[in-house]
Amino acid sequence: MPRVAPPDVDRAAAAHAAVAARRARAAVKKSVHDRERSPIDVVETAWADPTAALPEASLRVRELLTSIPSLGPTRVARIMERLDIADSKRVGGLGVRQRRRLLEWLRARENRAAEPVRARLVVLAGPTAVGKGAVSTYIRENYPGVHLSVSATTRPPRPGEIEGVNYFFVSDDEFDRLIETGQMLETATVHNAHRYGTPRAPIEHALAEGKSVLLEIDLQGARSVRRAMPEAVLVFLLPPSWEELVRRLIGRGTEDSVEQARRLETAKIELAAQDEFDYKVVNTEVGQAAREVVDLMAIPQT
Ligand code: 5GP
Repeated sequence: MPRVAPPDVDRAAAAHAAVAARRARAAVKKSVHDRERSPIDVVETAWADPTAALPEASLRVRELLTSIPSLGPTRVARIMERLDIADSKRVGGLGVRQRRRLLEWLRARENRAAEPVRARLVVLAGPTAVGKGAVSTYIRENYPGVHLSVSATTRPPRPGEIEGVNYFFVSDDEFDRLIETGQMLETATVHNAHRYGTPRAPIEHALAEGKSVLLEIDLQGARSVRRAMPEAVLVFLLPPSWEELVRRLIGRGTEDSVEQARRLETAKIELAAQDEFDYKVVNTEVGQAAREVVDLMAIPQT
């Protein structure tokens, strides 16, 4: 049968309607994101009248959950898997059991949000050039509720680095003394060159004050912290792809080609360790990755 194209006026009307529907869904998401509306209210509205074409009903579950402040895409994917809801499902298209599971999960989450938050030690590791430094700098600048551990290192400062902010720059002798006097939580020699280590006392103080702590350290350091503090949360930062990691390493231009090749070899070994970690966060966009890391600390957003 020949296909009959709809008249232009109908097509224009349909396009208008689609734009309006998208805008209405965006408004629902924004109201959840701005905490003006609870996600429970959104789903209950969507399910109250199945005959009404409501934006709440045509919203995808994934979009609803990611608009909740402090829920990043990685966690949302995990939650949806646990609730047994397919990625493409819309709120209005859920079955009875899926609705019940989603509602129960949203209610339990609301109750948890009212409880006092427990401070956590989070370790951020990942391959060279993945952007660990950028993510932790973003957290330092945007989430003052998180204590960022400042490591000690025997490497000399780079231009622009500040003593006590980026690192404590110490001599080899001083580093030895810190170890001997039991002041380091972990230490490692990184890239076969300089020594780095995490001072213990500031972390203990911050945790005692109820502040979550972030350590941005290498793989060996992450393993040592796991042994010393099994309650620590280990997060692995991943590049969106191997090609992108290579591009970032070459693009930053801080290493010569021999050093780049050496670091890429190390990166392969580091990537192979990702399954030892509790969580993986993909660093596609720094602010988003930072939000996901902070989210894992369960601290209130600032
Ligand atoms: P950079 O010299 O480029 O600042 O850091 C080199 C590597 O050392 C990075 O992978 C960084 O995560 C790691 N690093 C920095 N501080 C520490 C630390 O206190 N302990 C360990 N184990 N690694 C660290």
